[in-house]
Amino acid sequence: MSNTKFIETMRARLAGRSKRNLIERMITRSPHSMASEKAITALEVYPLLLLMLACDHPTKLWILDKGEKPSSARILDQAILTKKWHSTNITIDDCEGITDVVENYVAMVVSWKTLLVMRHEFAHAATTFFSPSTRGRIKALYQDALRRGEFTEPLAKESLAEYAACGLSYYFFPDLKAELESVDAGLFSLVACVLNEAESLSSLIAQ
Ligand SMILES: [Zn+2]
Repeated sequence: MSNTKFIETMRARLAGRSKRNLIERMITRSPHSMASEKAITALEVYPLLLLMLACDHPTKLWILDKGEKPSSARILDQAILTKKWHSTNITIDDCEGITDVVENYVAMVVSWKTLLVMRHEFAHAATTFFSPSTRGRIKALYQDALRRGEFTEPLAKESLAEYAACGLSYYFFPDLKAELESVDAGLFSLVACVLNEAESLSSLIAQ
């Protein structure tokens, strides 16, 4: 598909939807409007194109209220509910958020309390739509970081998916962005490049 054809196809598919429209569409459950607004604030930093791809896949977002456990989200399947996470083998209710594939959709379960956790969880959904070449480059950077033993936080070391999600979500906070740049300049450049490209495409399809 030529670039022009791709832009035309994506523009037709977007059909004038705004970031807010796309995020609201993904929200399957929210405890109250304040939580929904927080989710919109958290996710609207992502390029329109990535929000559209996630929304249409589809991605279902279940927002937890204070005190609610991730396992209470009724969009998860048995495999996720019984899965053990990370090298420490934590269970679902020890996680701050969960993003995983369920049958034909991506399930994202997160509390509305912190922007970073919301942006981190959505990063898992967004990286699903990265090209094979971008994923290959992230994998090489992850292997390099493992050799150096340098990560922004222990979670980023856990897996390729966590490495990518931490890198992407850090980019949206000025202080964390500076930290990413100093700890992992390669990942920083790649994230900048991927987001800039997605922003350019987004401005073309939004016209
Ligand atoms: Zn994660």
